[in-house]
Amino acid sequence: MQTGEIGEMLVSLLYPRRCPVCDGIVTGKEGLIHDSCTKKIRFAGKTTCMKCGKPLENSEEEYCSDCKRTKHAFDRGFSVFRYRSISGSVYRFKYSGRREYADYYGKITRETLGSTIKALGADAIVPIPMYEPKRRQRGYNQAEILAKAIGKECNIPVRNDVIKRVKNTVPMKYLDSRSRRSNLKNAFNMSQNDVKFKCIILVDDIYTTGSTFDAVARQFRRIGVERIYFITLAIGQVV
Ligand SMILES: [Zn+2]
Ligand SMILES: [Zn+2]
Repeated sequence: MQTGEIGEMLVSLLYPRRCPVCDGIVTGKEGLIHDSCTKKIRFAGKTTCMKCGKPLENSEEEYCSDCKRTKHAFDRGFSVFRYRSISGSVYRFKYSGRREYADYYGKITRETLGSTIKALGADAIVPIPMYEPKRRQRGYNQAEILAKAIGKECNIPVRNDVIKRVKNTVPMKYLDSRSRRSNLKNAFNMSQNDVKFKCIILVDDIYTTGSTFDAVARQFRRIGVERIYFITLAIGQVV
């Protein structure tokens, strides 16, 4: 046995891999998720908003009620799961250090959206940046971990060095749509203005109103990026 393998074995004994759905231990044989737990999750599915990717009740509609009245700065977005079926998992991934979930998230993103992602022909995947002092406090930016997992699965370079969050914004859930916009005003800044991307995919854990993606997309538009898409792990349904 190589030293590296022994190290890996010790790590897996001390920190056994957890299932992204129930948080119970998964053994090597079970892979990344319990078989029984795969039945508990709900995918966003095929009947979704042509703009934000939110699941739609009515398949006749092209856009959700939000996108009918909002002009988004991004071109289009796609999500893997319906939020309610995976909310606990996303919460632990974000706040309880369950970074290993990203392996499953990356794999399932490729399995469900891989061909869509490939067809976009993106030059880079860009995670939504976190305010640096906040990132240091949490220890990681979950959007970045997710972006890296997706980039690895789909063979697209991940760039976390092109845009930064320069303002500590208030969590969006506490704000109405107007305050959301002013909250995000000047929140993001390009750290490099000479990037030559034609097409990028932004990545975050959850899609709510899209105002964060809009704010980031506007920065990339300004430097001439032509097509801007996003991918999130989870998205709510139309209410
Ligand atoms: Zn499980
Ligand atoms: Zn929509």
